[in-house]
Amino acid sequence: MTAALARIRRDVQGLHAYAVQDSTGLVKLDAMENPHGLPAALQAELGARLGAVALNRYPGDRVADLRAALTAYAAPPAGWSLMLGNGSDELISLVTLACAIPPSETANGQLPAVLAPEPGFVMYAFSAKLLGLRFVGVPLRPDDFQLDADAMCAAIAKEKPAIVHLAWPNNPTAGLWDEAAMRRVIAAVAEHGGIAVIDEAYQPFAGRSWIDSIRAEPQAHEHVLLLRTLSKFGLAGVRIGYLMGPAALVAEIDKLRPPYNISTLNAECALFALEHADVFAAQAAEVIAERTRLLAALRALPGVTAWDSDANMVLLRLAPDDAGALRAFQALRSAGVLVKNVSTMHASLTGCLRLTVGTADENTQLIAALSACLHKTP
Ligand SMILES: *Cc1c(COP(=O)(O)O)cnc(C)c1O
Repeated sequence: MTAALARIRRDVQGLHAYAVQDSTGLVKLDAMENPHGLPAALQAELGARLGAVALNRYPGDRVADLRAALTAYAAPPAGWSLMLGNGSDELISLVTLACAIPPSETANGQLPAVLAPEPGFVMYAFSAKLLGLRFVGVPLRPDDFQLDADAMCAAIAKEKPAIVHLAWPNNPTAGLWDEAAMRRVIAAVAEHGGIAVIDEAYQPFAGRSWIDSIRAEPQAHEHVLLLRTLSKFGLAGVRIGYLMGPAALVAEIDKLRPPYNISTLNAECALFALEHADVFAAQAAEVIAERTRLLAALRALPGVTAWDSDANMVLLRLAPDDAGALRAFQALRSAGVLVKNVSTMHASLTGCLRLTVGTADENTQLIAALSACLHKTP
C-alpha cells in the first residue's frame, strides 16, 4: 500500500462503496422513485426557469425562498424552524455529527449511541459508525414488523442513546408503526435525555404525519426532529431534504451545514414543484391506488406474503430462504424488471424482496413476471 493510501482510516478502507444497481433498459422498481415524470408543458416551463438562473452567483435568495415555501407547505408548529439538506441523507449526517461527543466528555465515558429499529434505513447506522458513535439496532417484531415498544424502551433505558431514529413509515418494511408504541418510545427518549428523529420520507403516501401529534402535544415533543425529503415525492434527482424541529435545536445543527449545500438549480426546481404541488399530489394518489391493486395481485400468488404498506413500496416474502429470493430477483431482472433483494439485509427478511410501486403498466409487467417465475420454480 502506498503511504498516501495508508493515511485513509482503516474502517473506511474496509467499507464497500454504496452500490447503485445498473438499471439500463430495465423497469426500475428498486429505489422508491416516483414513476411519473412532469407533463411536457411543465417540463418546458421549468427548463426556461432554470435557464434564467444566475449560475455565476453563489446560492442566495432563492434558497431562502425555498425555505419559506417549504415552511408554508409543511406548516411546522410555532417555535419550530426548518433547515434544508442536500437530500435527507445529509441531514442525518449533520444531526449525527452534532451529537458526536468524544467519550472523554460523556457521562459514562463511552461513545454516544445512535439507536434504531431493525431492519431499517441503512444510513442511520452508516452515519453513526462513520462519525464516531455506537450504533444499536433493536429488532422489530418479526411477524408483522411493528415496533417492539418494550424492547425499544428497555434498550433506551440501558444505552441512553443520543439519537433514536424512527422512520414512519419504515423502509424496507413499508408500514406505519402503531401510534401508541411510537408515543411510548418517544417518551422514553425524552426521559433519558435523547433526541428522537422521526423520518417521514414516505409521508406523501402515508395519509398520516406525526406533525399532528406534535401540534397536539408540543411539550411531549421538545426533543423531536421531523425529517422529510422531496425524493419520494417526485424529485429524487434534485436532492432536497428538510429538517424541522424546535428552533434552538435546529440552530445548533444548522451550524454544521456547509454554507452553500443547496444548489440554486435544485432550489429553483423545488420551488417550481411546490408551485405545482397539485400535480405531485395527483401522482401520489395514483401510486396509492396502484399500491392497493399491486398488493391484492401479489397476495393472490402462490406462497407469497405481502405486508401492508403506507409507502410507495411493498415488502414481500417469496421463499423460506435467501436462495429462493435470489432466484426470483434474477428471474425478474431477466424479464426486464429491477427490484431490491433485501433478503440478506437482516435475519427477519429471509426470502424477501422489496418492490417500488410503479405506473399501472410497470406493475402489470412486474406481476406477470413474478407470476411466471413462481409458477415455474419448484
Ligand atoms: C429514501 C429515504 C430517505 C431519502 O433520502 P434522500 O437523501 O432525501 O433521498 C430518507 N429516509 C428514508 C427512511 C428513506 O427510505
